[in-house]
Amino acid sequence: MSATKKSAPAPAAGKNGKALASAKGSPKGGSSKLSKGNEFDHPIFHELQLPSDVNNLYRQTVGSMLQAADLMGLPHQLKIILAQPKNEIMVHFPVRMDDGTFKLFKGYRVQHNNALGPFKGGLRFHHDVHLDDVKSLAFLMTMKCSLVGVPYGGGKGGIKVDPYKHSKAEMERIVRRFTTAIAHQIGPDYDIPAPDVGSNSQHMAWIADTYAFLSEVGGKQADAVITGKPVEYGGSLGREKATGQGVVDTLVELLPEAGIEIKGCKFSVLGFGNVGSWTGKILQDKGAKMIATADHTGAIRNDGGIDAHQLADHVRKTGGVAGFKGATRIDKDEFYKTKVDVFVPAALEQMIQEPEAQMLNCKVVAEGANAPTTPAGERILEAKGIEVLPAILCNSGGVTVSYFEWVQNKTCEQWDLDIVDKKLNKHMVKAASKVREAKKKYKCSLRTAAYAAALERLKSAYEIRGIFP
Ligand code: GLU
Repeated sequence: MSATKKSAPAPAAGKNGKALASAKGSPKGGSSKLSKGNEFDHPIFHELQLPSDVNNLYRQTVGSMLQAADLMGLPHQLKIILAQPKNEIMVHFPVRMDDGTFKLFKGYRVQHNNALGPFKGGLRFHHDVHLDDVKSLAFLMTMKCSLVGVPYGGGKGGIKVDPYKHSKAEMERIVRRFTTAIAHQIGPDYDIPAPDVGSNSQHMAWIADTYAFLSEVGGKQADAVITGKPVEYGGSLGREKATGQGVVDTLVELLPEAGIEIKGCKFSVLGFGNVGSWTGKILQDKGAKMIATADHTGAIRNDGGIDAHQLADHVRKTGGVAGFKGATRIDKDEFYKTKVDVFVPAALEQMIQEPEAQMLNCKVVAEGANAPTTPAGERILEAKGIEVLPAILCNSGGVTVSYFEWVQNKTCEQWDLDIVDKKLNKHMVKAASKVREAKKKYKCSLRTAAYAAALERLKSAYEIRGIFP
């Protein structure tokens, strides 16, 4: 995967690649270290022949986990099990377009780990989705589910497609045909997909309906094969806003430790899709002020505050933040340099590389997106004294409410929104306190602490279950 990702103001493409040395010639055995080029290296990378490109997302995410694994003395067999997914499924399928021609699509489902429960994780619909992206995201789901205390393992999937370039009818045929291709690999007690970047509740409904048609799991029980469905079709109240709600719950819990109060705090958001817009709206409702935001259409700023609710309406109508009347257009660099208390990256992976980290002028980064900060970017943030609230904690609200949806499907119940919010908060507060404790125990960054806390639960599960045969 290239260092430059897909939307929102692009980070300086490939620049960090030049600054980093190749990992070739690194030692076998022993523990992890920073190699000559100041890039993290680990014997497991070589044992499993993971990609040697230091910009590779999979190498970066697994590398962060291995740092925590070394610190806590995780047994070697668990390191190798967790450093590779269990199953990698890739499918190609033809779909008829509206003009009668056929197009071939590529789809993925990666099942990383199911020691704690069924594989769980979203489906990304994006024109630039690759196997390594999906593997990284599936790995992160295992860590996230373990940390936030839901009974799932990790998975992720996707279709290489730009959903905005197809009619509704074409998307329906693409989604249903993809479901047919992976129907035997998923199931309400085996692997439960959900929405991710580019996919929405309508797509989830088509998947549930197609699965119900094809599988032996009939009737209402089939609904539990997927979460993030419309409320009218087995979805949970509060699922749409859940990831943003979880980001805010994490901030409410951890910001006071950084000496910041939510009321009156200033923040900026990168990416104003589902996670960014809900985080913005909920923070604003708690008395915080959004000063700047940016997406693939541009960046905007208003020191008096940008109304997140009005901006969300504008984005729904126009497709992006550009042209919003309640703010002034700024360039990408000014966006990153805008002084705020909290910066929320809520777009794609690897958006905060060295140049962006150098420009950031904030006290806390709250990772709403998955893996938005590269290791090189993180080192700069650390040197600047900026606290990073790691994604596996910060954005785990989505999968937590997915779990609530699955429980409601299995029990044929419908919970009120206040119950969902209260239960979500309980999970987020508990996960935050586990991270806090691990930070104290291992005297490390919050990211390493979050991995260590996630690994503790997986370690116990493996100790009890054993490895068959
Ligand atoms: N795609 C979301 C994530 O990355 C949600 C996954 C889910 O609900 O299963 O956490």
